Amino acid sequence: MTIRTGVDYLAGLRDGREVWLGGRRVDDALTEPVLGSTARTVARLYDLQHDPELRDVLTCSRDGEAQPLSLVVPRNGDELRRRGTAFNVAAQATFGLLGRSPDFVNTAVTAFGSAASFFAGVDPRFGRNIRDFHAECVRTDRFLAHATINPPLHRGRSSSEQDDPFVHLKIVRRKSDGIIVRGAKLIGTLVPIADEIVVFPLPKYAPGDDDYTAAFAIPIATPGLRIVCREPLVNPERLVSNPLAPYEEIDATCVFDDVFVPWERVFFHGDVDLANRLYDATTARHHTGHHGIVRGVAKAELLAGIAIALAEMSGTRTFLHVQEMLGDVLGSLELARAGVLAAEAGASMSPWDSWTPAVEPIMALRYHFPRMCARMIEVIQLLGGGSLLSTPSEEDLRSELWPGIERFFRAGDGTSAESRVRLLKLAWDATGSSFGQRQMQYERYHSGDPVRLAAAQYLGYDTSGLLETVNRALHPVPAEVFP
Ligand SMILES: Cc1cc2nc3c(=O)[nH]c(=O)nc-3n(C[C@H](O)[C@H](O)[C@H](O)COP(=O)(O)OP(=O)(O)OC[C@H]3O[C@@H](n4cnc5c(N)ncnc54)[C@H](O)[C@@H]3O)c2cc1C
Repeated sequence: MTIRTGVDYLAGLRDGREVWLGGRRVDDALTEPVLGSTARTVARLYDLQHDPELRDVLTCSRDGEAQPLSLVVPRNGDELRRRGTAFNVAAQATFGLLGRSPDFVNTAVTAFGSAASFFAGVDPRFGRNIRDFHAECVRTDRFLAHATINPPLHRGRSSSEQDDPFVHLKIVRRKSDGIIVRGAKLIGTLVPIADEIVVFPLPKYAPGDDDYTAAFAIPIATPGLRIVCREPLVNPERLVSNPLAPYEEIDATCVFDDVFVPWERVFFHGDVDLANRLYDATTARHHTGHHGIVRGVAKAELLAGIAIALAEMSGTRTFLHVQEMLGDVLGSLELARAGVLAAEAGASMSPWDSWTPAVEPIMALRYHFPRMCARMIEVIQLLGGGSLLSTPSEEDLRSELWPGIERFFRAGDGTSAESRVRLLKLAWDATGSSFGQRQMQYERYHSGDPVRLAAAQYLGYDTSGLLETVNRALHPVPAEVFP
């Protein structure tokens, strides 16, 4: 099979999966307003791969077949940058608001596939399994979502120390044909409308947690897998009020009620030490991080653009303090762009023969980007002022009331009242609405706890050059040695 179309993807969602939303089981995700709207956004991403102008940007030809670049192992700098450009195109299409677009987990699975010998170190068949799974993903171009975190029953205790042994996802039984798992994983963003879920361990498991470390992939429609959606944050039928509704990336808790996973879909289990090393050692952190920072740039562009548009529309752009705020926002955008360039320029060959982006700039942005985002959001809200909360409803715009009140909503720069209201609503949706707040929380936590990630950057950093700098400063060259 070659790259999929949006229609192929949407058709695959009608498979009897068990998705719960608002207290009831969803019969058909496509007729459910929020799920259906986001599924169509994902479908458009699949269709981009067939756009004659973008096909060569998003895919490459291997063995006579077009393959998404997110599933192709980059072997040199050009291939890595091409991949970054492909991420950028998909992120631009969704304003960076769809963090878990199909290309995201693809990068993790591709890193795992390239590092098959890491998995084979546990058991040769796991090496084969992950290689086969990656090859299958290339053949089928299916939409993979992931859920890696255990429910926060008690974060001060390891998985095996929780008072309920089956809250964290655990292997209940090993059988001749596979394993049975029970417990839950989160946060399964877009799992309700994905084709498969990939589960893998992230650090830090503790001694005794061996049965909690399984890595595997199964179709969403697997019996016993129950997907419990959070409440929707938008109304996709009110696109003036919720202009960003098509990018509502539904999050979910994934409950595994004695789910059978056949051995051929198990990539790993039962080794705490390897589980803790897996994400970094396979370079999945590097490649998913590359995707994450490219996507972040697209979001920063949206936020910067909104801030500038608000200042220009309201005539505040001539004020020095507003210009300083806009310079601050543009500075963040440029730093985010520079981080992508630094990660790509500093790339090197991994032990798995994949050209791997430098992790240091990725981790730096991982820590600082949420702060930059928070400031961009603050600037938008400062510039928008009370107007952000005094726009009439979209029904008002269509009512007999509107012609009589329209002039109160015009902008001095000639922007029509309706355009001004729409921009203010966009600004609020991106920053202040439930949707906007979720986006901010996503930036903080999408790939782990920033506190521990920053600490890990320090602990893993080669600080010798910095300490040598201090040493040189401590031993100044006496003036007399200079002629
Ligand atoms: C909107 C959104 C979507 C996401 N989508 C996905 C997804 O699709 N797939 C996926 O796998 N993940 C996803 N994530 C990330 C993930 O599920 C977690 O949110 C993230 O890893 C942080 O874990 P946590 O939420 O359990 O927070 P915790 O790790 O529990 O952290 C919460 C607070 O407790 C503190 N804390 C907790 N434990 C410790 C400790 N041991 N030592 C010190 N401090 C501690 C932290 O510093 C922090 O302040 C998503 C996150 C968000 C917010």
